[in-house]
Amino acid sequence: MREEIKRLAGLQAIDQELRAQERELAKISAQVDDLQTRVEQQAAELEQLKAEEKNGAVARRELERTLAEGEVQIRNKRMRLSLIKNDRELQAVGHEVELLKETNQRIEAELLARMDGGEQQAARLKELSEALERDRAALKDAQKAIAGEIEQLRTRVAQRRREREMLAAQIDAAMRQRYETIFDRRGGNAVVPVKAGTCQGCRMRIPPQLFNLIQRYEAIHFCPNCQRILYYEADKETEA
Ligand SMILES: [Zn+2]
Repeated sequence: MREEIKRLAGLQAIDQELRAQERELAKISAQVDDLQTRVEQQAAELEQLKAEEKNGAVARRELERTLAEGEVQIRNKRMRLSLIKNDRELQAVGHEVELLKETNQRIEAELLARMDGGEQQAARLKELSEALERDRAALKDAQKAIAGEIEQLRTRVAQRRREREMLAAQIDAAMRQRYETIFDRRGGNAVVPVKAGTCQGCRMRIPPQLFNLIQRYEAIHFCPNCQRILYYEADKETEA
């Protein structure tokens, strides 16, 4: 029975390693997925910014055109002013010139604000383009790395599986099945020592009679509380 317990413990060590490798692989995959999502989001944001910049440029050109037209109108009216003799007409055209000037000042202010905004947008666009380029490169590297890691991991897993099969074949089938059930239900920890009379899986005190039986290795015993497979491990004090 001592040997059977050893085989079960060996099986557990392999199963724990396999489980850790699977988790590691899932973690790496998740990191790559996160990076991929970020790259996609950045690309979408960049496209939107580019469209906004284009619209902004069109709006600026339109404002510039309106401004130039306004200036032409002001010039024309001023020329007319020098030809007018009638006071009332003079006043009316003078008023029109003032209004046109006010309108042009407003347009000018808006144009300046838009130019400012355009500069900020261009800076953000540049920043985002660079970030996107960096992340795309990182994604490519990560994908390459993960491909290599997957390959290595597959080789290791295949080797461990062969070892596991050989070991599992030496263990009583019913016991192996029971072990596998416990392993799945108890978080990958199915074979545990009893130390100082306590199950190291659930920290329950083992009845003295059972503890004696465990130490004799005549049969395989299970924790009455957590059902894990128990083996005896001498206390540090008594070993020394
Ligand atoms: Zn227990």
